[in-house]
Amino acid sequence: MTEIVKIHIINIDFLGNIFCVFLLLPVIVVEEYMNKFSEDKYISKQIVKRLPRYYRFLGELKDKGVERISSTDLSTIMNVTASQIRQDLNKFGGFGQQGYGYNVNSLHKEIGRILGIDTPHNMVMIGAGNLCKAIMHYRSFPRYGFHIIGAFDICPEKIGTVINGITVMSMDELEPFIRTHKADIAVVTVPTSAATEVLERLSKTDIKGVWNFAHVDYTMPNNIQIENVHLSESLMILSYNIADVSKGN
Ligand code: ATP
Repeated sequence: MTEIVKIHIINIDFLGNIFCVFLLLPVIVVEEYMNKFSEDKYISKQIVKRLPRYYRFLGELKDKGVERISSTDLSTIMNVTASQIRQDLNKFGGFGQQGYGYNVNSLHKEIGRILGIDTPHNMVMIGAGNLCKAIMHYRSFPRYGFHIIGAFDICPEKIGTVINGITVMSMDELEPFIRTHKADIAVVTVPTSAATEVLERLSKTDIKGVWNFAHVDYTMPNNIQIENVHLSESLMILSYNIADVSKGN
């Protein structure tokens, strides 16, 4: 796939330089190339789901000083097939070469760029209960550029308390804080009864994405992205698998 793309690039240069009198021709070739490119580079939701895992494994290899790795070796470490790895990673440019393998650093960087974690994200927490506290104490987020810069609650007893160095603010301060501090992600950890109201309120702010732990499936308007995380559903799947194994399936 990479080779095809390269050949197209050469064609464009060739036509552009030698046959520049045929002004329209290079335009048609560029259009064809762009169509082919967008088709080839389309990243499905399934691949997106696998990206954080690639990012994590490549990060670990990078930390160990590994400069390149073959799809076969990567497949052994990650416990997926080499062909799946080749199919997925070839989407991201010419990082894999026959007999050379993948350039760990470049691929790690590119996947980070695709995941949007090459630029930092400012997060606000809404609902300073137990789950919020656990998330605020999780140490790995800053490593990936996720910075918790504010926490909010409606309960007077929670307002003014400090969680991991951050003072919980009143919900009255939410909108001005998001605007002033350019927060782009809101983490919602309020109970189900308050979730819809909070999510509706967030939809009117400049927030770009919501990480929703409340037990509602909500679709945000205005292009705001939402990731609904249902911890108990994940646990139920584990429970199902345990039950399934004990039935001998
Ligand atoms: P705790 O018992 O300490 O309140 P919890 O995690 O069991 O913790 P939940 O009932 O899940 O509490 O609520 C989480 C947090 O959400 C609480 O701190 C609560 O005050 C807050 N909260 C509830 N409604 C709202 C709301 N509309 N806006 C902001 N925060 C809210």
